[in-house]
Amino acid sequence: MAFSAMMTSPIFETPGHKPSQRLFIPGPTDVHPAVLAAQTAPMIGHRSDEFEALYAKCEAQLKQLFFTDFRVYILAATGSAMHEAAIRNCVGGRVICFVNGAFSQRWYDVAVGCGKDVVRVDLAWCTAVKPAQVAEALAAALRDGPVDAITVVHNETSTGVASPVGEIAAVVRSLSPETLVLVDAVSSFSGTRIPVDEWGLDILLTSSQKALALPPGLAFASVSDRALAKAKTVQGRGWYFDFLLLERYLKRSTTPATPAISLMRALGVQLDRIFAEGVEARFARHHRLAARTRAWAAEKGLGLMAEEGYASPTVSTIANTFGWDIEALNLFLAGREMELSDGYGDYKGKAIRIAHMGECWDADLERLFGAVEEFAGL
Ligand SMILES: *Cc1c(COP(=O)(O)O)cnc(C)c1O
Repeated sequence: MAFSAMMTSPIFETPGHKPSQRLFIPGPTDVHPAVLAAQTAPMIGHRSDEFEALYAKCEAQLKQLFFTDFRVYILAATGSAMHEAAIRNCVGGRVICFVNGAFSQRWYDVAVGCGKDVVRVDLAWCTAVKPAQVAEALAAALRDGPVDAITVVHNETSTGVASPVGEIAAVVRSLSPETLVLVDAVSSFSGTRIPVDEWGLDILLTSSQKALALPPGLAFASVSDRALAKAKTVQGRGWYFDFLLLERYLKRSTTPATPAISLMRALGVQLDRIFAEGVEARFARHHRLAARTRAWAAEKGLGLMAEEGYASPTVSTIANTFGWDIEALNLFLAGREMELSDGYGDYKGKAIRIAHMGECWDADLERLFGAVEEFAGL
């Protein structure tokens, strides 16, 4: 397929899904019919050669997409589960959680829930986590002893802000080489380049239902050798998320518990589609759609919520400058088989969020903008 030349979306012709039906919410996102269809194939035994071949193929492709030579674990779970996996395996002593939105707050909650010694660093919502802020917090915490890990969200879906996780990792390495860098890329992974090994990210985790454009239910995490070595020293890793157990099974291209076979089939097809489009072309498409969304907002006199220079490549959070009734806007859009998101939490009614990730193409966005303009009389 000549994806690079394809500026419009593939037509969605799935039973029950009108060709014009589109989600612009930041997950779950639209899934291509070929990917949906892959899930209807008959079951196979998960200890079969056929399944292990599928798992091995997916893991090899994921390693390329993560830009890692280490490993990628694939689990029947969601991104939040990988928050828990990262904490349980990589934190014996203290962890610093940087909180600049709802999902970084969740990771903090998970760390507390796991009974860890957590240092919480609050930063203003709608701003990015900066390397200097990380350096300051880490240096202060180090005065009380070692810090096992830091957590940071690459792309805060609640505010539409992307943080410079490569620079953050470099700062952590220079101050405290043994501190692990744990990164959530749930809503940005596969929409922008995150070179895991080059940037020294010990864990990068994501879920299936955002930019990867798969149904919900799969979670992925790249895990460095350092992170795996750390797990050996940490007590209370549990069972389902135990990296040492996952590693033993990964060597046989499978998981300890029954994998989500149908979702794995969908993943196999979607990864082929991603590589057919071209990984760099896919990143470029996401950046183009983000730039177009920002330009449209500016043209219409709508401000962005994100701190200047840190706007997300996959979801734009736009101030509700004209005080639109967002529920009414979504009702209007529903009549045109589209949906966008209200602001998150305190921003409900004050902002709209437009996801431009996964199967979203230029023509889809233009149709959305046209409908919003019609609703608002712009
Ligand atoms: C959606 C999201 C999550 C939660 O992922 P689940 O798969 O729903 O558990 C975590 N972090 C970010 C940045 C997200 O966008």
